[in-house]
Amino acid sequence: MKFTKKVVLITGGARGIGRKTAEMFMQEGAYVVICDRDQPSDLHSLKEAGQHSPKFLKVDVTNTDQVNEMVKSTIDTYGKIDVLINNAGITIDGFLTKMNEVDWEKVIAVNLTGVFKCTKAVVPFMMEQGSGVILNASSVVGLYGNIGQTNYAATKAGILGLTKSWAKEFGPKGIRVNAVAPGFIETDMTLKVPEKVLDLMKEKTPLRKIGKPEDIASAYLFLASDDANYINGTILSVDGGLVI
Ligand code: NDP
Repeated sequence: MKFTKKVVLITGGARGIGRKTAEMFMQEGAYVVICDRDQPSDLHSLKEAGQHSPKFLKVDVTNTDQVNEMVKSTIDTYGKIDVLINNAGITIDGFLTKMNEVDWEKVIAVNLTGVFKCTKAVVPFMMEQGSGVILNASSVVGLYGNIGQTNYAATKAGILGLTKSWAKEFGPKGIRVNAVAPGFIETDMTLKVPEKVLDLMKEKTPLRKIGKPEDIASAYLFLASDDANYINGTILSVDGGLVI
């Protein structure tokens, strides 16, 4: 039980990687707060994952008032936040020539500004505690770009910059900040990717397979744990070797 009495706040925790991460932190004894636009219909089954029921908060990370309320409500309930996982993310893909400004702005608003808003709201409490861990969702696409993902790649590359800046800014306050850069992971997000692209990705991946949400969740658990006490400002690729 590596996270007994720890309070872990996960954005976009209703589905995919976020949900698996929530489950695995619960199994390690954490109090988990799942923040998402919609409550998962089977929240009751998640309750059985750990010894404490998760708290669900309806939050859109692009809405400053909701983000501030999310933090206030978590502090009111648990008195602290030990780990923030900025996981919520969206894709609206298209070639640059066809990408309109609305789709550019929407992706920036969730994947980048949402991370800014959530971290800005949480950090004062972590500073007061003198401890905390912030983990951000980047992507292999942020490292090497991707055709048809101008907006998404820009946000995921932006995550690298803010992760390193915050690692420097908050390290002296006892707060560690790191990012995970997943490769292709089997979730609703990648269901949209055509079969032949997935096959190509498998071929390009030295481990010759698509990852699973638990592969990323395990990386978050490691980076949030005391085992990673001296890891700060790093970008951990979890991609089967895709970016080598
Ligand atoms: P999913 O689409 O499966 O889940 C994303 C979750 O985020 C959903 O529950 C979604 O809610 C929520 N969300 C979206 N927008 C908001 C918002 N404005 N406020 C709050 N919650 C929101 O994605 P994945 O689990 O696949 O991805 C999780 C993270 O990992 C993302 O940041 C993604 O970019 C990153 N990633 C994923 C990879 C993959 O291959 N799957 C690869 C690399 C990075 P709703 O149901 O309302 O849409």
